[in-house]
Amino acid sequence: MPAMPASKIESSAPDPTGFASDVALYAKRRKIYQREAHGKFQQLRTVTLFVLAGFFLAVPWFNWHGRQAVWFDLPQRKFHLVVLTFWPQDFIYLSWLLIIAAMSLLFFTTLAGRLWCGYACPQTVWTKFYMWIEWLTEGDRNARIRLDRGPWTRDKLVRGAAKHFLWLVLAFAVGISFVGYFDPLRSLLSRLATLQLTVTEMIAVAVASLALYFDAGFMREQICLYACPYARFQGAMFDTSTLTIFYDRERGEPRGHRNRKDAGKGLGDCVDCHVCVDVCPTGIDIRNGTQYQCIGCAACIDACDEVMDKVGSSRGLVRYATEESLAGKEVRILRPRLIAYGSVLTIMIVAFTYGLSQRIPLRLDILRDRARVFRVTSEGLIENVYTLKIMNMDEQDHSYRIGLADGHELRLVAPATVFVQAGQIAAVPVRLQAEPDEHEHERRARQVTFTVQADDQARLAVRGESRFLMPAGGST
Ligand code: SF4
Ligand code: SF4
Repeated sequence: MPAMPASKIESSAPDPTGFASDVALYAKRRKIYQREAHGKFQQLRTVTLFVLAGFFLAVPWFNWHGRQAVWFDLPQRKFHLVVLTFWPQDFIYLSWLLIIAAMSLLFFTTLAGRLWCGYACPQTVWTKFYMWIEWLTEGDRNARIRLDRGPWTRDKLVRGAAKHFLWLVLAFAVGISFVGYFDPLRSLLSRLATLQLTVTEMIAVAVASLALYFDAGFMREQICLYACPYARFQGAMFDTSTLTIFYDRERGEPRGHRNRKDAGKGLGDCVDCHVCVDVCPTGIDIRNGTQYQCIGCAACIDACDEVMDKVGSSRGLVRYATEESLAGKEVRILRPRLIAYGSVLTIMIVAFTYGLSQRIPLRLDILRDRARVFRVTSEGLIENVYTLKIMNMDEQDHSYRIGLADGHELRLVAPATVFVQAGQIAAVPVRLQAEPDEHEHERRARQVTFTVQADDQARLAVRGESRFLMPAGGST
């Protein structure tokens, strides 16, 4: 009996009887031994994965004006994004950003399916790096299957140890970089080198590193299949014009192996080699149609193209296509749903950019003295006391002048200028004084407007409202 081809040692095909689903509510995970695919889409993915991973690892190393350029400073509740610093008062911008991100997902998913999952999702990025390490240390698909099924040998131990060592090194690099976004990376590393990390820092680095190690090393496609909500609702965004990955059933069926006798007479172009399934990171068979488990990595396209080249058929049996193009209909790129998503997205980006350009990095909070509503000075004046909190949300230090926009009959007692360092808050006590008014028996409160203006930039000006209280009829 001829030996079974190595590529057929393990089949990832679903159970054709469906019996397993009748007897068990929870399917045991079937380990996927992914075969490496080569082709233009995998080259494109390699470039995007390296660019994105490199960007993630490099960003915390850059400084700007003496601080880490991108730094999510949770204790101070400030988010530094290079030239911008967002305070809790800027929460609206974060909300806008999240809405823009959600709208982008809607737009691009409707346009071209799961582009995000296949090319940019961190889950995809790091899992791919882990797979490369696996291929490097344990070999290709068949070698890994043989290694897993074989007895424990020195070679198996060494390869396994090397794989886990490299996985842990990468997990640590990613984990500490991730923590570095919240705790400046350079000082974090110098404290690590001198064994001076705090307990919180040690826990944060360990949790982030181990999360990646277990996720990309062991969980892999299960996160996409069972934990990611996007996989479940992305189908609702697809329409018949969405560009996604299809198997051309018309061309491929009936599938079957070629033999020398009839040279595949009566068969379609699919030679049923199973390679498209073997390269699939989620272990599905694209020939069964579009499935929510498909993350759009295009490995099956590249793999099938290679097979088509070998058997002398034209490429594209598995390809990016739309339901309309497969049915021979005209492809509509611009359609009402896409135009609506695109319009909303454009408006939101323009509004966000405009809002950001008009943002004044200065804020004024006014606190009235709660201990006494008013007091009478030795000169017989009615006096109210306030604390002005001037927040310099800019990247530079500024001196500010405090003034009154109205209420000319009030006298302001305040420092001539107040110097506030970049990113700091100054609490300035100020007083307003007025002559007691014998004639106005009814009016006990009047609106006052404080102004704060930077000395060096006219646009750095804010106003704040409060009330001036005085006794009725000048009585004290
Ligand atoms: S790789 Fe292509 S030819 Fe081979 S089974 Fe898949 S669709 Fe058929
Ligand atoms: S079916 Fe193809 S595109 Fe989808 S996940 Fe599998 S290999 Fe990637």
